[in-house]
Amino acid sequence: MAALNVLSVFDKEAAFGRLSPFQCREIREPDIPNPRWLKVRNKACGLCGTDITFIFMKVHPKAFPAATPAWRRKYLGHELLGEVIEAGSEVEGFAVGDRIGLRMDWPTCFEMEIDPPCPQCARGSYLLCENWGRRDPVVVDKGGGFSPYMVMHRSQAFKIPAALSNDEALLMEPVAVAVHGAYSRLPAAGDKVLVIGAGTIGLLTLAVARAVQPDAEYWSVARYPFQAEMARKLGASGIIPDEKNNFPAVADASGARYISRLGNRILMGGFDLIYDSVGNGTTVNNALRWARGGGHVVLLGADFKPERIDYSPVWNQEVTLSGINSHAVESDGRTSWDIAAEMLAGGKLNLDGIITHRFPLEEYQEAIRTFVHKGSKGATKIVIEHR
Ligand SMILES: [Zn+2]
Ligand SMILES: [Zn+2]
Repeated sequence: MAALNVLSVFDKEAAFGRLSPFQCREIREPDIPNPRWLKVRNKACGLCGTDITFIFMKVHPKAFPAATPAWRRKYLGHELLGEVIEAGSEVEGFAVGDRIGLRMDWPTCFEMEIDPPCPQCARGSYLLCENWGRRDPVVVDKGGGFSPYMVMHRSQAFKIPAALSNDEALLMEPVAVAVHGAYSRLPAAGDKVLVIGAGTIGLLTLAVARAVQPDAEYWSVARYPFQAEMARKLGASGIIPDEKNNFPAVADASGARYISRLGNRILMGGFDLIYDSVGNGTTVNNALRWARGGGHVVLLGADFKPERIDYSPVWNQEVTLSGINSHAVESDGRTSWDIAAEMLAGGKLNLDGIITHRFPLEEYQEAIRTFVHKGSKGATKIVIEHR
């Protein structure tokens, strides 16, 4: 990992090279290991920011996830749309021909068949599984969304309802993330809500929160004009530019008082609720200062670097900071995926325009470059297709 980071400083293409731990290879098609697994042919898979993090190995060794137990190989691609081509005899609820998504990408107690499951898996927070790395994987080379074929344990699959289009099915995973983020702290009627970031997760969080609570006022921090346009289309009543000092603009939007003393910028007042879909040191520090006293900041963005955070707004202004990791079972007992599918099937989310680019697998390097230069390419969700 260290070697690649050093190379990356000089050569942005290092991740594609021979020395990179990231490799695109031809391997044997996987077989199901026992009757509780499915074999899947993938149609397409969205490229996620975390895929890019792993491709360029941007995980800082001191970040929490860097110390969690690892597997020999991680197959990338979790925002997939696949079709069941073989269902083991002990798999219920799935049949050959079903369209499916991948609900649990990382090994959990369910996939490892640990009975009873750990307390996190038992309550549905499968991404917080405490048994990670306790057992060898059932299948090492199971494939992922960027491979044409893969196998998955029955617990990992989510059946796509017939009412959803293929594009909606492809967006199910990021919509489920947005659902988990929004449901972790839903806006109340009359709230002023800010979504930081207008990439896929920021836009989807805006769309989901607004669908659940239409009687709140939504604002978006967007970096590029095409992102601002999408945010407006999804119901943002105003856009805050992603500039170095946007405190005055945030003060105007939220009706707060802006104070700057010796370069120390604060707001008195601010947004009731802030969803931070970027989640780096700058946005978290800003969000804590842009929330009103007693306000709430939800961290959805996954940054793999330890950053310096001034947490004084947490005690001084009683601001709550909470975060989410992907998706889970929500407080009403439904999974984030069930809620996402219901919202899509009910026509509550119009996701036209979120998928901006499609590449065949053979052009994966171009897809990655498009992600890296998403501003100039006008990219939101990039999809890799198995043609
Ligand atoms: Zn993702
Ligand atoms: Zn577990």
